Amino acid sequence: MLEELKKIEQQALAALKGIEDEAALESWRVAHLGRSSPLMEAFKSLGKLSKEERPAVGQRANQVKLALEAALEERAEALKQAALSASLASERLDVTLPGRALPRGGLHPVTQTLRRITAIFAQMGFQVYRSRDVETDEYNFQLLNFPPHHPARDMQDTFHTTVPDVLLRTHTSPGQIHAMREYAPEPIRVILPGMCYRYEQINTRSEIQFTQVEGLAVGKNITFGDLKGTLADFARRFFGPQVRSRFRASYFPFTEPSAEMDIECFVCGGEGCSVCKGTGWLEILGSGMVHPTVLRNGGYDPEIYTGFAFGMGPERLTMLWYRIEDIRYFWQNDLRFLEQF
Ligand SMILES: [Zn+2]
Repeated sequence: MLEELKKIEQQALAALKGIEDEAALESWRVAHLGRSSPLMEAFKSLGKLSKEERPAVGQRANQVKLALEAALEERAEALKQAALSASLASERLDVTLPGRALPRGGLHPVTQTLRRITAIFAQMGFQVYRSRDVETDEYNFQLLNFPPHHPARDMQDTFHTTVPDVLLRTHTSPGQIHAMREYAPEPIRVILPGMCYRYEQINTRSEIQFTQVEGLAVGKNITFGDLKGTLADFARRFFGPQVRSRFRASYFPFTEPSAEMDIECFVCGGEGCSVCKGTGWLEILGSGMVHPTVLRNGGYDPEIYTGFAFGMGPERLTMLWYRIEDIRYFWQNDLRFLEQF
């Protein structure tokens, strides 16, 4: 019987050596440790042995069982490790490879300029006030002191709609009337950014649609000195702390007095170059004290309140800043142009 157990053990261990996968290992377990395996049969036959033989055979049978179980466990662990190494080798992941870049959009250069302008005026306490792109003749012109047939209307060729007196705004100035009528008689400090439309010949310097940023401050004791200080400060914050500015008398129907503001050419420093056409100065905006008629139209008594207003073109500022020669690039959607910003 002891010989028999030795044979069972040897055969089982020999069979285990050739096993290379889990399914085969399970079959081995059934064959050598299962209920009808030779070893279990040996246990069952213990009862037929004599009292003298039984302890020694029983002990040996237990040893064989423990030995086979230990061998099984060892083999299972070895197979598990082999499977892990195989999967590591076949599914190798190189964590040092750079990731796949996602295509990233960017802000349009004029939007970037608009945001810079907005941020600067926000620091000075101006709020953004938005108003509609489609306006009436009354708001776009009449309330801003452009009566019908006023010659200043010739400067702003207009897109009219099929509805009489409804048009696409030619400037952001009608927003001044909307803001004043909303806030009067409270003091106002707003900027009015937005798209404007003019029926113009498209060329390197003019487009049929463009953005403007209008500014308006209304209150008591607002003077031309406030206008100059605010706009000179804006120019320094936008173009650099050393930039000098100057005001030239001008004419707009909705301001009196009116002035255009130039900054010293930041390309040549005032020496004269092709960007400033040899003058040393660049025109950047129009401005003036709000005309008493416009104040009255907005709901403010011009005997008590005064104000200043200004307007500038983000396209023009962007062109000056980046020395872009042709305004038409802004609407061509050419990525070779847009990706530079
Ligand atoms: Zn210059």
